[in-house]
Amino acid sequence: MERVLIVGNGYAGSRAAEVLGALEGFEVLHVSDEAYPAYCRHLLPGLAAGERAPEDLFLPRGNGCGQGAGARSGIAVSRLFPKARRALLSNGEEISFDHALIATGARVFVPSSLRHIFGRCGNVIAMRQMREALSLRRILERGNRRVAIIGAGRIGVLLAEALKRAGVSISLIDIAPEILPTMLHDGVAARLRTHLEAEGDLSVLAGRSVASAEMEGETVRALHLSDGTDVPCDAVVLATGVVPNTEFLEGEGPDRTDGLPVDARMETSAPGIYAAGDVIRFQTVTGKSAPGQLILNAHLQAEVAARNIAGERATCPPLFIGNVVKIGPVIGAVAGEVDGSGTEDYRVGGSFLRITLEEDGMTGFQFVGLPEDLRGLVPGVLKRFEATWVRQALAVSGGPGFSPWVFAGAGAWA
Ligand SMILES: Cc1cc2nc3c(=O)[nH]c(=O)nc-3n(C[C@H](O)[C@H](O)[C@H](O)COP(=O)(O)OP(=O)(O)OC[C@H]3O[C@@H](n4cnc5c(N)ncnc54)[C@H](O)[C@@H]3O)c2cc1C
Repeated sequence: MERVLIVGNGYAGSRAAEVLGALEGFEVLHVSDEAYPAYCRHLLPGLAAGERAPEDLFLPRGNGCGQGAGARSGIAVSRLFPKARRALLSNGEEISFDHALIATGARVFVPSSLRHIFGRCGNVIAMRQMREALSLRRILERGNRRVAIIGAGRIGVLLAEALKRAGVSISLIDIAPEILPTMLHDGVAARLRTHLEAEGDLSVLAGRSVASAEMEGETVRALHLSDGTDVPCDAVVLATGVVPNTEFLEGEGPDRTDGLPVDARMETSAPGIYAAGDVIRFQTVTGKSAPGQLILNAHLQAEVAARNIAGERATCPPLFIGNVVKIGPVIGAVAGEVDGSGTEDYRVGGSFLRITLEEDGMTGFQFVGLPEDLRGLVPGVLKRFEATWVRQALAVSGGPGFSPWVFAGAGAWA
């Protein structure tokens, strides 16, 4: 019987437990510092806003939810010694293993200027774990309805949108000049911001940082911004990016912000120690390396790691990077590489499209509009459609507009 330690019970850890749990000859020890069974992290904004109950988020049983014989919830791996193949748990227990999967995801990055309030003030919360979403929900349920969200990246925007639906008053603060600064170009993001601000009580305070926090005991009552704006608030949510959870690994510093490197088999530099999900850096289809942060990628990487632990020779193909944010009926989407040498803007149906062209091929796009107009665009990036074809398609659609059916594979594309 070979013993496998899985650290973390998110999408990656639960998928690996599922694959290995179905095989003979493996004893799986699944350790998770969260007290809950595996759940859908992307639904946390809806939980905080009161739209969903905690049990709506739990992954179905039998899905490797960390509830098998070897599951330990609410216990962290405090130290892992890859060479010795031993781990120390937060309850003092020491365990040995033959193989390990590091599936510890990431935690919210707390900028040094905010460290004095995070962890000290009860109304300053991150948005990464179920307990944090539930804390925000409790504050809102007490009738405190003003929330300042620091960070207008994907998590900040998704949370703002969910809270807006619940009638909460939101100030969305970011030092960058526009929302979604790491996802969309400013001009594209501005189109999506219009939809975000369209209804409800939501102000985007971009291009400003938090200068100081006004406290009453251990509660933040207002934030003072760098341009002199005062933001009175009942809760502050940090959505300031993430850092991978690697500090418990012997030989890893606390600030490996770029993720654990792995090979195509998901094995780290330590033989027998694999890693998957948000904790790693992986190879993209365009030959770059990127941090995790996508559910489907975590799932696939964990499956590959588990199969290798089981003795197969499985490899993970280079993965695609894409992201979507939904604001009411409109989505903002990005796929592939968007920082190439040339960009061109088009109208697709009623939607806005910016494509990136590199060496006469389409390497990526940014999109703001209705989901139906997105049809065929992802294959366009994956297959790296030629720029001349893209322009021909424009001509076919008769002007500054792109026919979705062209991307869908009809006409000139067939
Ligand atoms: C609000 C929100 C919305 C999102 N929306 C989307 C979306 O729409 N689409 C998408 O693709 N992705 C989305 N993501 C990202 C997605 O959730 C992550 O890519 C995914 O959770 C990664 O899975 P993982 O298993 O690698 O890590 P995680 O899900 O983070 O799980 C890691 C687990 O390991 C635990 N852990 C950490 N350290 C230890 C330790 N030392 N010992 C024991 N346990 C430990 C953590 O507490 C956690 O439970 C969203 C994320 C958030 C927070």
